[in-house]
Amino acid sequence: MLKKIDKAQLFLEDHLHLFQCPVCSQAFESVENHQVFCRGGHQFDLSKKGTLFLLQKSVPSEYSRDMLLARQRLAESGLWTTLLDKIQSLIKHPEGVLLDIGCGEGSHSAYLKKKGHNGPIIGFDISKEGINLAAASHEDIFFLTADLARSPFASLQYDTLLNILSPSNYSEFDRLLKKDGQVIKVVPNPGYLKELRSLQKESKQSYSNAQVVEKFEEHYSTVRKVSVKYTFHLPDELVEDFVHMTPLGWHIKEDFDNIRTKLKEITVDLLILIGESEDSA
Ligand SMILES: [Zn+2]
Repeated sequence: MLKKIDKAQLFLEDHLHLFQCPVCSQAFESVENHQVFCRGGHQFDLSKKGTLFLLQKSVPSEYSRDMLLARQRLAESGLWTTLLDKIQSLIKHPEGVLLDIGCGEGSHSAYLKKKGHNGPIIGFDISKEGINLAAASHEDIFFLTADLARSPFASLQYDTLLNILSPSNYSEFDRLLKKDGQVIKVVPNPGYLKELRSLQKESKQSYSNAQVVEKFEEHYSTVRKVSVKYTFHLPDELVEDFVHMTPLGWHIKEDFDNIRTKLKEITVDLLILIGESEDSA
């Protein structure tokens, strides 16, 4: 049984061309003794868990380990299954390289891998805590801590860019995406987690995704939109995890016995945006 760090080294040996140096943007040249070297002489160490840390400096994360564990338990309970099955059916290149942008604790990537995405999957997030948990929990995916604004990925190498409920950077997306690649972005629809919103004391403005969708449509010559809406039966023991899962719930002060009676069912209402560029045809 290979150690995680050795598995990660083997992955990098085979896929070094997918990455570039986050400092000087030159290609990665070699990987040996659990270290990666770029042509400009920068060097990065693989962690014991088999991840790379490629941030220029640590970013304080709003995502605590408790919150990440809550997300992981919810994912394991099947909260995202319907969404992810839909996404999988939309992926044009299941043998291609998929980059999960803002992968958090890695549950989405892990599900897609388990369900048969044959190509390599790379997941990254700016949260080191998230990446540590992802790498500890899942096999066969390469996870790294990195910043989308200075992303350590090589140009024109990615068949699928997956961006689930996480910020985008379209100029980076353009740089990374292969000519016939797909960007699959998931944004909330107005009904998303409405049961949780209704618990908030402050008068909340109803959420609209119009601006995000408009920006996406401006950017890609071909855009498909697929809505996914379903009700998830929330088991009592996951109610607390659910409330802690997103910033929406962080300010809720209500007693959990009360909340449990109100959160029996959760509405998952999301919009999948699939973008392809003109010269992809
Ligand atoms: Zn470099």
